[in-house]
Amino acid sequence: MIRYKTEQQIELMRKSALLVSDTLGMLAGLVAPGVSPLDLDKKAEEFIRDMGGAPGFLGLYNCPSTLLTSVNEQVVHGIPTDKPLQDGDIVSIDCGVFMGGYYGDHAFTFTVGEVEAKIRKLLEVTYECLMKGIEQCKEGNRIGDIGHAVETHATDHGYGVVRELVGHGLGTQLHEEPQVPNFGRQGKGKKIKDGLTVAIEPMINMGTHRVKQLADGWTIVTADGLPSAHFEHDVAVVNGAPEILSSFEPIFEVIGNPFENKSEA
Ligand code: MG
Ligand code: MG
Repeated sequence: MIRYKTEQQIELMRKSALLVSDTLGMLAGLVAPGVSPLDLDKKAEEFIRDMGGAPGFLGLYNCPSTLLTSVNEQVVHGIPTDKPLQDGDIVSIDCGVFMGGYYGDHAFTFTVGEVEAKIRKLLEVTYECLMKGIEQCKEGNRIGDIGHAVETHATDHGYGVVRELVGHGLGTQLHEEPQVPNFGRQGKGKKIKDGLTVAIEPMINMGTHRVKQLADGWTIVTADGLPSAHFEHDVAVVNGAPEILSSFEPIFEVIGNPFENKSEA
């Protein structure tokens, strides 16, 4: 059952989402060669608690960390380790917050030092996939329209769209109905209407769409070892239109907007 939110509930969700945004903005200043994901994880937990929230992932499904950090061929669900990031890496940082009874869940893929142009292109297209998916999250459309927009843009660039992991409803639970796949058919799936709150999160691979899980029971990697990118926003449908509750602005204030003139932040 989809739990549609009231205006008041959406405001609480916005606070949780923006605390994740601020956490990612704080981390944006720290991501660099030599820094370990575990260092970032500690800073994120401290920051979230200082701001009056609780880490949203920690302890949920036995998750051991505040962040999920997925480097290069890791798609999502990487557990932070003390292995330092290296020049040329990309790292998806996915962060959750629980505050005021609601979850925020939001992710950005960062470049570490100098990253190859073809990998930067993957990030740019994945970001565009997110924005194109969000545009379709409006009254009169169905969930399949979101995935169709994401999938079309990714496959137009020859990229693989991960199918095993999907976006999701968001609220008092981290994962609520409906599932929001990054592929789909126009006009198919549940109807979109006011009060719907979802996390939209394209996971796009440079090569094959196929993925596998590592023996740690968490980390998802591409089957061919090529890089993967992941961007996630929290979105509410208000007055029939998508409203992005989270924001990449705190990140862009630190590193600039690498996607400027491409799409709206
Ligand atoms: Mg997430
Ligand atoms: Mg999510």
